[in-house]
Amino acid sequence: MIVKPTLPPYWYPARSQAIYGYLLSSTDIYNSQSSLLIPAKSLRRHAVCGKIGAMGATPTVPIRTDAIGLMGGTFDPIHFGHLLVAEQARERYQLGEVIFVPNDIPPHKKDYEVSLAEHRYAMAVIATADNPYFRVSREEIDRSGPSYSIDTIRAFRQQMGPQVQLYFITGADAILEILTWRQPQDIVAECQLIAAHRPGFDLQRMTAVLGAELAKQVEMFTMPALDISSTVIRQRVRQGQSIRYLTVPNVVNYIHKAGLYQNHRSNRGKCEG
Ligand code: NAP
Repeated sequence: MIVKPTLPPYWYPARSQAIYGYLLSSTDIYNSQSSLLIPAKSLRRHAVCGKIGAMGATPTVPIRTDAIGLMGGTFDPIHFGHLLVAEQARERYQLGEVIFVPNDIPPHKKDYEVSLAEHRYAMAVIATADNPYFRVSREEIDRSGPSYSIDTIRAFRQQMGPQVQLYFITGADAILEILTWRQPQDIVAECQLIAAHRPGFDLQRMTAVLGAELAKQVEMFTMPALDISSTVIRQRVRQGQSIRYLTVPNVVNYIHKAGLYQNHRSNRGKCEG
């Protein structure tokens, strides 16, 4: 006896469709990669947004193609905290895309050991590969000199045009120092700043440090309660402890394979010239 499914037929895998003998609407499309049928409605939604390639993702909120997130950071290494912030910011601000921008020479870390930019870039690519709304930019890595955020924001503004709303997403602790960055007033004029902070962050600090006027222009964004940091990951590797479940499995593999973070002096990794 054949029991009819109660879900709309287009949500069933193709094989079930054949068994149940359901007719497909001519606009429903079979996605051979995932063996799932993509409902025409969902496909249309992504097509309208110019995001056909994103159809493997679960559609959640509408997307604004004129709103782009720039996720700035050192990402040494990238971890689930960064990914979750990017994904939730994408949802909250209906971003068409979140572009991770690993810096080359962090202007404020000239005296610190930071892993080679190519390692940090590779890990960011690995970590974001499965999210069709994420991509990684080489903008700062390919530009010579210190990675000033204002130069990056202007480069994206030039590429994307004046109609696009840019959101610069980064850690609240980094934004607390924005007055020491190059042209902070121009940064807030060019884009909406989003300061991701861990639970328990003293929100008054932003006003105390930046002053009421500038603080008003910074959107605070509570990081999901994941107390993960790149510093903790580096420390754990150095101490021979597990970093599983703190970042994407292939990033864990990459860190071990490249020999990153094993000790203070050699944390630039095996590719160092
Ligand atoms: P950082 O000092 O390494 O990070 C400060 C805090 O923010 C850390 O707790 C860090 O956590 C967190 N964080 C950093 N990026 C984040 C992100 N995208 N999402 C969520 N949390 C994040 O700061 P940084 O990464 O070197 O710098 C942040 C951004 O500011 C970069 O794009 C950098 O180039 C820019 N910046 C520009 C200037 C300038 O233009 N003069 C000066 C300083 C910084 P984790 O350690 O876990 O990442």
